[in-house]
Amino acid sequence: MSYHANEKGYYGEFGGAFIPEMLYPNCEELRQNYIRIMSEPSFQEEFHQLLKDYVGRPTPLYFAERLSEKYQTKIYLKREDLCHTGAHKVNNTIGQILMAKKLGKNRIIAETGAGQHGVATATVCALMGIECVVYMGEIDIERQAPNVARMKMLGAEVRAAKSGSRTLKDATNEAIRDWINNPVNTHYIIGSVVGPHPYPDMVARFQSVISEEIKWQLQEKEGKENPNYVVACVGGGSNAAGAYYHYLDTPEVGIIAVEAAGKGVNSGESAATSALGKVGIIHGSKTLLMQTEDGQITEPYSISAGLDYPGVGPMHAHLYKSGRGEFISITDDEAMTAGLEMSQLEGIIPAIETSHAFAIFDYKKFEKDDVIVINLSGRGDKDLQTYIDYFRL
Ligand SMILES: *Cc1c(COP(=O)(O)O)cnc(C)c1O
Repeated sequence: MSYHANEKGYYGEFGGAFIPEMLYPNCEELRQNYIRIMSEPSFQEEFHQLLKDYVGRPTPLYFAERLSEKYQTKIYLKREDLCHTGAHKVNNTIGQILMAKKLGKNRIIAETGAGQHGVATATVCALMGIECVVYMGEIDIERQAPNVARMKMLGAEVRAAKSGSRTLKDATNEAIRDWINNPVNTHYIIGSVVGPHPYPDMVARFQSVISEEIKWQLQEKEGKENPNYVVACVGGGSNAAGAYYHYLDTPEVGIIAVEAAGKGVNSGESAATSALGKVGIIHGSKTLLMQTEDGQITEPYSISAGLDYPGVGPMHAHLYKSGRGEFISITDDEAMTAGLEMSQLEGIIPAIETSHAFAIFDYKKFEKDDVIVINLSGRGDKDLQTYIDYFRL
C-alpha cells in the first residue's frame, strides 16, 4: 500500500480533478507533461542550482538542545525559516516557474490569502522576468498591506477579488476564470498541495526536497535516516507533504499533522479541517472540508493566516482517514504560548503557523530516545505585530 498519489491523482478516495469542462485542456497539458519535465536532467539541474544559490538550500537540520531538555526527548528542527523569503513556499514557486518556462508560458497567475504565496510567486516571476498577476480578496488586501506592498515592489500586479466574501475562495475563482480565458500563454501557480490533479502531487514533489535533505542530514547526525516522528503544521499541507514525502511508505516513521483549532475545535471559530471536515469538493479536488449540512463551505478561523484554509490537501485527508497520520488540533492560545517559549528557549521566533507544531508536547508524550523532526516552516517576522498585540510586549 502506498500513500503517494496514483496515476489519476488519487490518494485513497481523495484527490482527482473535478474541474469545469473549459479548464480541462489546461490541466491536461500539465498532467501529460509534469513528470516527464521534472525528470529531465536539464530541469533537475536548474531546479537544484536555484534551490542552492537562490533559496539557500540545503537548510540546516538543527538539534534543539534546550527544547529537547525541556521535553525529555531528542528534537531536531528543519530550518525552512531560513529559505529566501522566510518560508518553504518558495521551493514550490521555483519549481513551478521552471515548469511554466518548459511549457512555453510567458505569464503567471496566482491567488493568495494572507499574501505569503503571492510574495513567493512575485519573487520567482521577478527572478525570471515573467509577467505576474496575483488575485487577492479585497478584504485580504486591506488586512495584509505589507505583503501587498512586497508584491508590488517585486513588479507583480495585485488584482482585487470583489465578489462574495472577498477573501481567498473568491480570489481562487477569479484566478480560475483568468486561466480559462488565457489557456495558451498562462500558467497558474497554486501554492499548496491542493487543487485538481496534478497539482497536489506536483507541489508535493517540489517540496519533497525537505525530507530528501532530512534523510541524509539525520544519517550524519544520528547514524540513521529515519526519525521516530516527523511533525508539521497543516494549512493546505505543502510543508507537511514535503517533510513527510520520503517517509510516507515507511511505517516505522510516525507522521504527526498539526491543525489550527482556532478558539477551539467546537467553538465555531476553527480551522481544524480534518477533525471537522466532511468529504466534498473544493478547488477541483475531492477532500475533507469544513461545510454546512447543505454543503456550503464554512469560513475557517485561525490566528495564523497561513492555516486559515477550509480544506486540506487530498494526501492529508487520506493520511487522516487511513490512520497513517496522527492529527492534533492546537488552539490560538496554545500556539502563541509555544511560539514565545520557542523564541526564548532557542532564539528562533517562528511563524505562528509553525508555532502550532511546537505546541504538541502537552498532547503527545515521547520516549527519551525518540528522535523527533519538527518542520520549522517559516520565520515569525511577518507575525511580529500579532505576537506583540497578544502578549502586550
Ligand atoms: C503558508 C504557510 C503554511 C501553511 O501552508 P502549507 O501549505 O500547509 O504548508 C505554514 N507555515 C508557513 C510559515 C506558511 O507561510
